[in-house]
Amino acid sequence: MAILIDGKKTSQEIQSEIAGRVSEIKAEGGKVPHLAAILVGNDGASQTYVNAKVKACEQVGFESTLVRLEDTVSEEELLKVVEDINENPEIDGLIVQLPLPNHISVEKVTDKIKPEKDVDGFTPSNVGRMALNWPAYVAATPYGIIELLKRYNIETSGKHCVVIGRSHIVGSPMSILMARNGYPGNSTVTLTHSRTVNLSEITQTADILIVAIGKPEFVTANMVKPGAVVIDVGIHRIADTSKKSGFRLIGDVKFGEVAEKASAITPVPGGVGPMTIASLLYNTLLAAEKKVYG
Ligand code: NAD
Repeated sequence: MAILIDGKKTSQEIQSEIAGRVSEIKAEGGKVPHLAAILVGNDGASQTYVNAKVKACEQVGFESTLVRLEDTVSEEELLKVVEDINENPEIDGLIVQLPLPNHISVEKVTDKIKPEKDVDGFTPSNVGRMALNWPAYVAATPYGIIELLKRYNIETSGKHCVVIGRSHIVGSPMSILMARNGYPGNSTVTLTHSRTVNLSEITQTADILIVAIGKPEFVTANMVKPGAVVIDVGIHRIADTSKKSGFRLIGDVKFGEVAEKASAITPVPGGVGPMTIASLLYNTLLAAEKKVYG
């Protein structure tokens, strides 16, 4: 049976390390990190995510500002709000919760965020810096995975890492991070996607398999090499009448049978998910301490 890579526990450790640093900053009379989040519209999942981020800020002692805008807001108005926050010296980090309504260009809004405050790591400047292996705000989910590999001392050098999915927020940056010269990194990386032929043959050669495909329980035991490290990024709600909530969460990996074969695996829930918020808080701390752009 595989070692469980516990993202819940690790994220709590990171949050208490951040809270400790905030106490030191306060004791030194420094400025407490301040995160601003912009939420457009009333999408239920987006509200839940933003609320969780604001609550996490409170828990570590950060200040936070939530700017809520109607889904009828114009692109111009939203760009103006971003610009105001860019210029506000009180605010260290800014995130714009996605998705945005169809009439607003995500590219334009992302590009408007000052790279120094882009704690989601989505601007071209930060993606480029990450790819160059320069100091950068790395997007929260890939950064969370890197931190899990590090804290569980997973050997990555010379290993074959297969990433399933090439999204801008998970698969693509993950492939770059695993190939870069450093630890975790120095892996030989194969990035697979919807046009990949013979996916299963490729995944069976993976020492480290990172799955961000967005299909419930897609990866089964026969796709996994014995002893592989399996990181499951997927999150799906499925109906479950035995639960009070009426649903339970599953990942992109068929956990039970894959855990029998893997050497280490992240569960869903409690794996990659909780690390995302911890990474965002960490990036905000870096922003407040001017550790990325100097
Ligand atoms: P996405 O839908 O943007 O990308 C999915 C990728 O899978 C695409 O690049 C596509 O090419 C690839 N793909 C589709 N079918 C394939 C196939 N048959 N074979 C190989 N590749 C195939 O998804 P995403 O935003 O990267 O998210 C992936 C999953 O991770 C989702 O379940 C999402 O909810 C979850 N997610 C979780 C977190 C977290 O914090 N834990 C963060 C982001 C996303």
